[in-house]
Amino acid sequence: MISHPPPSFGVGDVATTIRAEASQPDFRKRIEDARANLAAAEADYQRHAASHRLNEVPVDSTAHGFDSAESVRLYEYRLLEKPCGRQHYEEILASSTKCLLCGCGRATTVDHFLPKSRYPNLTVCPINLIPACKDCNYAKSDSPADSPTYLHPYFVSLEDVEVVATQQNSSPASIEFSIAGDASTPVVASARFHFRELGLSSIYQFHALHELPTCYQQYSRIYDEQGAAGVAHFLRTRATSAKARERHGWRQAAYLCWSRSPDFCEQGWQIA
Ligand SMILES: [Zn+2]
Repeated sequence: MISHPPPSFGVGDVATTIRAEASQPDFRKRIEDARANLAAAEADYQRHAASHRLNEVPVDSTAHGFDSAESVRLYEYRLLEKPCGRQHYEEILASSTKCLLCGCGRATTVDHFLPKSRYPNLTVCPINLIPACKDCNYAKSDSPADSPTYLHPYFVSLEDVEVVATQQNSSPASIEFSIAGDASTPVVASARFHFRELGLSSIYQFHALHELPTCYQQYSRIYDEQGAAGVAHFLRTRATSAKARERHGWRQAAYLCWSRSPDFCEQGWQIA
């Protein structure tokens, strides 16, 4: 979960590129004629995103004059294969090395936040294109109209969202992650939906337990010198430092959870 600036260009720029790179006059005219409707769809998208209502954006709109198959082709041929169109794609992909949906994986794909199969007029809309890892791109599905939406990295403010971790028993391996806060707040409801649908608790747990053994020696040394209180203090410091770097990442939540666990600080890290 990451809040990230949107692309610096809009669908009007993409339309200009596609038109300039097209060789057939008829196709150039169709793109020019589509420009106003593509821009209107982009503006409508922005309005819905600002109020966490992207699942209310009308589906199957072909007001821009391209049917569903043609709209997918606009993306797959004009944006992925054509050299100038590809530059737009590459700029979006390069805007983040990390997946903007989970914040953990490497961004190697571009996800259509609203899927290209259902939203023909948004297939080449830059604010609908998100750098994402393959796992998130695969796991993400449509959000039903009556449910919260996924968190949109270009539009969400995560100020009211907090990732917390709890240890279910004395083993650090039992750590689980969740979203704290008032679920009646739209952004918290969306964060919980996002967290659940993408399986982020499991992903965060994997990373936490993968890193844990690399710290055994450090924890043991502190314990030998300062006891359990020293380990707890060290973990709190790590949590604070991690939170400053990545507020909604797994590290800040895991370290804080373990700092509060008497079992963990009494050499319980070795149980995992
Ligand atoms: Zn991801």
